[in-house]
Amino acid sequence: MNPFTEKALILLQSRGVTLDDIVDCVYYLQKPYHVNLQHKDLEESVLRVLDKREVWHALITAIELDVSAEKSTYANKDLEKIVQMDEGLYGMDEVLAYGICNLYGSIAMTNFGFIDKTKYGIVGRLNEDGKKEGVCHTFLDDMVGAIAAAAASRFAHK
Ligand code: MG
Repeated sequence: MNPFTEKALILLQSRGVTLDDIVDCVYYLQKPYHVNLQHKDLEESVLRVLDKREVWHALITAIELDVSAEKSTYANKDLEKIVQMDEGLYGMDEVLAYGICNLYGSIAMTNFGFIDKTKYGIVGRLNEDGKKEGVCHTFLDDMVGAIAAAAASRFAHK
């Protein structure tokens, strides 16, 4: 396994996200377009997205910002409060996720918008858990949505 992929999977796991959770989102996005689609067909696409250095960089940035918000260790307390409260008008969490979608074209972008709205599976669970005291998933839910959207786009193009 590519070193970025392995590190990404470990980091995601440490935040409660498994490979299967992401594959399940890709399945949800691609199911309407294929007959006999299997989860195992999609796993490869998720792993190939996680291979990318750009994705790794987005992921470590996103998770660092969430974890630092949980620990209240931001230097800028205005920003810390915005991230802790997951303020709707902030939008930088989505902007960071677009960085992943942009690697896979407009289908990835559309898929991301869709899963962000429907909050399917792990995306919804992260969003709900993020409302609990001391838990911050402001950036992570968008990362997971973007990785799934990118993997769905990659699969669609094959
Ligand atoms: Mg978010």
